[in-house]
Formats: sequence, structure tokens, C-alpha cells
Amino acid sequence: MKEMGFLFCIFSLLSLQAISQRNSSDRGKSPLVPDNAVLSISGDQYKSFLSTHVVIDSSQDKDYTLVKRVGSRIIAAAKSYYHNKKAILSELSSYAWEIKLIGKKEVNTWCMPGGKMAVYSGLLPVTQSEASLAVLLGHTTAHMLIKHGNERMKQYLQDKLNGKPLAESLSANPDYTKELFRAAYGMGTNAGIWIPFSKEDEEEADNLGLIFCGMAGYNPREALVLWGRMARFSHTAQEPELLATHPVYGERMTRLTEIMDEMVRDYFKPGIKN
Ligand SMILES: [Zn+2]
Repeated sequence: MKEMGFLFCIFSLLSLQAISQRNSSDRGKSPLVPDNAVLSISGDQYKSFLSTHVVIDSSQDKDYTLVKRVGSRIIAAAKSYYHNKKAILSELSSYAWEIKLIGKKEVNTWCMPGGKMAVYSGLLPVTQSEASLAVLLGHTTAHMLIKHGNERMKQYLQDKLNGKPLAESLSANPDYTKELFRAAYGMGTNAGIWIPFSKEDEEEADNLGLIFCGMAGYNPREALVLWGRMARFSHTAQEPELLATHPVYGERMTRLTEIMDEMVRDYFKPGIKN
């Protein structure tokens, strides 16, 4: 039994170490999706989304101050995590990070390239606690920083737009390119199409997101409560939009349980104030 525990610890350690190796600054880079084109279209899409939705950004609104506080702490934790990886740190320090609470009953949140985040008001009754919200903001920020969306967009350009680079596709076929872009980054298309991240992407975003969550001062164990609650809605009529892009794959709860002791031991900084 002891031996099994030891082997498991070694396995977990290796998988956590692998996270930082995979998060090299070259991840998600391709001539088809250069950073400048991705950031430009992301900024435009975010602006356009905000202009067509109710944005709650009053400092008097307690939900907004909650969202702002958690988002800021996750961003600070991400910068701290990459403090000795100059290329990534300078990239994420150059982002004009924004976090908005959107008055929308859907259960959803996303983070677009350049740190453009949205939390829908319908999410808060589901997250229920500040730490659960931190789990999700850590997760979506991790997807963005690992550049999972870039990899998906690159695939769409190759498969659906004759392999033309993003800027070129945008000028030749603007509406379709924008729809694919929104789908690739988990924002949801105007036609209401949500494309799930792969199991591998979900695992990576869980791992890195929980590190951010712990470093921001929130207990990563809250992830078990949150995803457990979410899983109950999976494949039901009440399935939240969030689960359409971030499905609760069968093994997620088992895997989270397995890595949790190590996550807490290595990354949880209770009481930290970013
Ligand atoms: Zn996800």
C-alpha cells in the first residue's frame, strides 16, 4: 500500500512538473495565428460583445466587486507563477487585462486572448463561494495562457479556410472567421454553437488553474465541490453553457482528487493578499 502511495506521489510530481515544461512561450505559436492578429481580433470581439450586453461595473455593486477582486488576484497569481519565465511574464504583463460582470442569466465565464474576461451574472448562484469563482477564473485564464484557443483556431484555418493566416482569412471572409474565432476561444458563436475543449486541454487548464487558485489564496479543494455541483447538471436540460465548452469528463473528479493533496501542499497560500 505504502509502495502504491509512493508511486502515485512520483507520478503526480512528474505530471505537475510537466505543466511548466509544456507552458513554454512557443506553445500555441504558428504563422497562421500570430499574436498581433489574435490580440487585435480578440480586442475587437470583446468590445463588440460588451457593446451588445449589459455590463455591470459599478463599484457599489457587490457582485462586481467580488468578480473584480477574484479576477485581480488570479491575474497577480499568474504573473507570480511565471516570475522567472521572462518571455511569458513580459507577454502577460503587456496585456490590457479587463474583467467585466455581464448581466446575463446564462451560467458562463470566459477569458479571451489578451486577458479579456467576462463573468455572466448567472454564474454566481452556481459558484456560490468566492473560492469556487476563483477555481473557474483560474481555469479559463489557464486555457488562455496555455493558448489552447490558438491551437484550435490554427486547426480551423487549416480545415475550413484553406490554410490562410488569420488576418488574411478575416479580410476575405470576415463573418465566418469571427464565428470560428469565437468558437475556438470558448466565447460561443452568434449561432449559439459551443465547441468543447478536449480532455487533454481540460486537464492542463485544471492543473494550471488550480495552481493560480492556490497562489491567489483560495483553497484548490473547492474545485471538488464546484465541479461536483456542475457535474450534476451535465447532460440535463439545465446543462450550463460553461459545461458545453468545459465538459466534466468522467475521470475529472477522480483525477482532481488524486492531485489535490499535492496542489494544496505546494501551491495553497492561505491568507495571501495580492
Ligand atoms: Zn476548460
